[in-house]
Amino acid sequence: MPWSKVPNRSIFHPAFKAKPFWWEAYEPQKLPEATLPKEMPVAIVGAGYAGLNAAIELARLETECIVLDAAEPGFGGSTRNGGQVSGGVNVGKRIMNRALTPDEAKPFLNDAVDAFTHIENVITENKIDCGWTKSGYFLGAWSQSHFDAMAKKISFLNEEAQTGAVLVPREHQREEIGSDYYFGGMAVARAAHLHPALYFKGLLDLAQKTGISIASNTPVIGLTQESGGTWQIKTSRGTIRAGNVIIATNGYTGDVTPELKRRVVPVGSYIIATEELPEGMAQSLSPKNRSFADTRRVLTYYRLSPDGKRLIFGGRAKFGFTDPVETAPLLYQFMIDRFPQLKGVKITHAWTGNVAFAMDELPHMGKRDGLHFALACNGSGIAMMSYLGRETARKVLGKSNRRIAFDRDEFPTHLLYNGNAWFLPLVGAWFRTADWWDRRFN
Ligand SMILES: Cc1cc2nc3c(=O)[nH]c(=O)nc-3n(C[C@H](O)[C@H](O)[C@H](O)COP(=O)(O)OP(=O)(O)OC[C@H]3O[C@@H](n4cnc5c(N)ncnc54)[C@H](O)[C@@H]3O)c2cc1C
Repeated sequence: MPWSKVPNRSIFHPAFKAKPFWWEAYEPQKLPEATLPKEMPVAIVGAGYAGLNAAIELARLETECIVLDAAEPGFGGSTRNGGQVSGGVNVGKRIMNRALTPDEAKPFLNDAVDAFTHIENVITENKIDCGWTKSGYFLGAWSQSHFDAMAKKISFLNEEAQTGAVLVPREHQREEIGSDYYFGGMAVARAAHLHPALYFKGLLDLAQKTGISIASNTPVIGLTQESGGTWQIKTSRGTIRAGNVIIATNGYTGDVTPELKRRVVPVGSYIIATEELPEGMAQSLSPKNRSFADTRRVLTYYRLSPDGKRLIFGGRAKFGFTDPVETAPLLYQFMIDRFPQLKGVKITHAWTGNVAFAMDELPHMGKRDGLHFALACNGSGIAMMSYLGRETARKVLGKSNRRIAFDRDEFPTHLLYNGNAWFLPLVGAWFRTADWWDRRFN
């Protein structure tokens, strides 16, 4: 968008950059180009958390693979996200929305617990220096009815997802957050935050140290299966034959896997970072260094930067795909609604990235038309996509201890959906109306 057309330009800091704040610490880079192998036991499409966790597990199980990425490794959601790591609350939201009964939700929640344990182990065992901080999470209730729904489900979440959650009535809200915006909420102990690009860099370093082949800027442009079952993976730099292929492309799933593209809905998520805040102000916003989200359908999520000096504020500012500079003023307004004391603070970074939703709003792994896949983070995939990557690698080698809940044959699509999510602005309009209704009348 031309600068002259950007609304509310006064919110931008003179040093503003339209790129992730996280890239100040690590920006995805093109890797030195090596000749592609002719054959590999396994090829992985997508070098994000899922692809690299799969590759690292394959290496641990003494199986060679190549990871191919259309761009620089980490270019996708894996260096752009909010860095908020939850252990099952997202699946819990499906229970709160009554889309799953508690009995149906149990196995998913148990696996979400394992996902949290997995990422914690990966980071601590490999000493990945990525600001891993287990300081919990506060989920703000957008309306009284949302708070009442939380109150009903909290003990189930604690039993099945070991979330260590407590209800926080409105009169105690200030102990959690420097805001009176919510109708109370839920404080969840088993949640963390990290620096997403440094977590990614840690995985990349580990993969490279282990000798895993990673081809950057090498889009996969065709996948065909020979009669014996071997795959021919056509890339921009030549063809590789592989016994198994893992698709780990999440919100960037494209035409090379049309049947998977029809099963994920890519959605843009947007984030802004503030300038360094005056002494004491950041801590007054988040006295316990929690990360935050709310029960609003037009979700916002936020936290302090790892050095505790800035607010990193994200949300679904738009439901289509647009310039993050255009959405920055909207996010800024969402931020001021929650923290009026930040009025006048400038923003230094604004960026976007894609997440992928499934039509049943659950993550998925499995095998379809001969291709293994780990897809559909539904907005929350730092732990989950890392875990599904590892589990997919185990499945490829027939070394899973059990079939995990997210590994299901069912991966719904719609007859009229071909991967072009033209309806997202309509969904956005409906969400905004329903949010308004809940806040006003419920
Ligand atoms: C703005 C934003 C905020 C988020 N906040 C959070 C958060 O706070 N907490 C949380 O848990 N999750 C969050 N997420 C989600 C999280 O980032 C993702 O779930 C996670 O990064 C997905 O990892 P992945 O490896 O599956 O996919 P990605 O990291 O998206 O990687 C997919 C890769 O596939 C590659 N690719 C696509 N097509 C091809 C092809 N044909 N050939 C080769 N390569 C291909 C792409 O180039 C890309 O690098 C957020 C995401 C975004 C965008």
